[in-house]
Amino acid sequence: MDNTAPPEKDENADALVLSTDPLHPANHISDLCRRFYTLGWVTGTGGGVSIRHGDHIYLAPSGVQKEMMQPTDMFVMDYRTKKYIRQPAVLKPSACTPLFLAAYTHRNAGCCIHTHSQWAVLVTLLCESNLQSPTSTRHLFSIKEIEQIKGLSRGGTGSSEIAEGGRKLGNLGFFDTLRIPVIENTAHEEDLKDSLEAAMREWPEACAVLVRRHGVYVWGKDVVQAKTQAESLDYLFRLAVEMHGLGLKWV
Ligand SMILES: [Zn+2]
Repeated sequence: MDNTAPPEKDENADALVLSTDPLHPANHISDLCRRFYTLGWVTGTGGGVSIRHGDHIYLAPSGVQKEMMQPTDMFVMDYRTKKYIRQPAVLKPSACTPLFLAAYTHRNAGCCIHTHSQWAVLVTLLCESNLQSPTSTRHLFSIKEIEQIKGLSRGGTGSSEIAEGGRKLGNLGFFDTLRIPVIENTAHEEDLKDSLEAAMREWPEACAVLVRRHGVYVWGKDVVQAKTQAESLDYLFRLAVEMHGLGLKWV
């Protein structure tokens, strides 16, 4: 797979990112980046957002201030060929790209969000310290019997069909245990791909993967589900850190 090859000549490439529809992926990613910046999820150009729209993968670029992101900053990749069909001249593609592609390939996701949230980082440090063992270990964060767990689906793309009684069929219930694998960080973000894919295979019900001392990758079948899950997880990570500070167990 050669992501660095120059894009095929396409005079209409800019049409891929120009739309008056606020929910067009290029506009939506810019809007989400601004919102996530205010949450401290994408500080200092860290983190990222990607949306799959049919066979087109929209990706926020590397090195751009997330709160200033513009639709014309977006890279667009053809999912089948893995070649860029639109590439801004002066920007670099995101190092998160192979990680986002893993969510599309292995979970059939429609959106993937990567945050550098301090709550996610702190949870990985608490797992590393083994202070919540045996239910949470160096390689696994577990929490249960917290209402917000119901905001998370099985595998990250579980059905949002509503059962009798109002329960989302594909989502975890109050008495289910949420388990999120933790992988070790690497010097270069793209080198996380193999361990992230291995964690996805080992934990097919996980809706996210935590990266030690770094952040979290969360996905969903569409933007709404991915955003709901990113928010629910951040709530749970923060709660877990506060619970730990009060001497309470997560499970
Ligand atoms: Zn990162």
